[in-house]
Amino acid sequence: MNDGAGSSRKKRVFSGMQPSGEAHLGNYLGALSRWVDMQDDFDCIWCIVDDHAITAGGDPAELPGHVFDLAVSYVAVGLDPERAIIFVQSDVHQHTELAWLFNAVTPVGDLERMTQFKDKSQRFESVPAGILNYPILQAADILVYKSDAVPVGEDQKQHIELTRDIARKFNAAYGDTFPEPEPLIGRAGRILGLDGDAKMSKSLGNTVPILSEPDEIWERVRTAVTDPQRVRRDDPGRPEVCNVFALHGHFGDAALVEDVATQCRAATRGCVDCKRILSENISKRFAPFRARAAELKAKPTLVREILDDGANRARAIAEETLREVRERMGLDWRRGVPNG
Ligand code: SF4
Repeated sequence: MNDGAGSSRKKRVFSGMQPSGEAHLGNYLGALSRWVDMQDDFDCIWCIVDDHAITAGGDPAELPGHVFDLAVSYVAVGLDPERAIIFVQSDVHQHTELAWLFNAVTPVGDLERMTQFKDKSQRFESVPAGILNYPILQAADILVYKSDAVPVGEDQKQHIELTRDIARKFNAAYGDTFPEPEPLIGRAGRILGLDGDAKMSKSLGNTVPILSEPDEIWERVRTAVTDPQRVRRDDPGRPEVCNVFALHGHFGDAALVEDVATQCRAATRGCVDCKRILSENISKRFAPFRARAAELKAKPTLVREILDDGANRARAIAEETLREVRERMGLDWRRGVPNG
């Protein structure tokens, strides 16, 4: 394994995902497949952000299992502990420590303007401070490793802007310490759920877990909403408004996508057959993930070792940053003790 100290000249990227168990198709298309591809070109740090997860509530008894399941998904899809640091956020307390220190330079108004804060806060009668401060912890996650870039979806761009603002404000107040990380926006765009309505999300039940068996994948895909105007099999369809067609674009080659569109418009293939093809292609793509996940689940200590090793390497980098930050902020009281 590399030492994780970023001695190479590769740019460093950080990203993380909240643990809600096994990853799903939306996680794969929107994030994980990109992260896998980035591992040759960047110095990568992939995190399971359990400190963030507690702001969403949930049963504490289930959280450790969700972390394990997400770790299995990470490694099964190809995140590689030999080429990246893979770890759990709560193992590296420097994230939360830096978040506290960033409170000193982050205006409350900036946090209140976050779109996600406005959305999420409506769900609470009394809004927990963690919902407001969440982007500060995100900034700390990224900046504690002095990351150069962050692969994110369009919906996270505003949070990266805030991270850049925090870095700027800190540098202005305490001296040049942090880079201003760039958002690397993915091409996958917004992945709609099988309901064709909302973003793919486990809580909405509109997705496909990536480790599903082929028949489970079909059970999910067969429920996918299609062009509402295609009521009978001989009604011509409109692939451009059908989410199944959009998903074909992620799992089939150009010739298949063209064939799907042509047959849809000509009503020469029914929606059930069209979904069958999609389901089989998803199943084929995910087959190696299922096999690798089965191996990992049979050897849970291997997963623990990967995460322990990742945490050690992450901690070494993060502590170096914190040492510098504490010193710049005057949090090294021993310097004030007179000699003698
Ligand atoms: Fe969608 Fe395929 Fe049905 Fe056309 S044939 S509406 S692309 S599911």
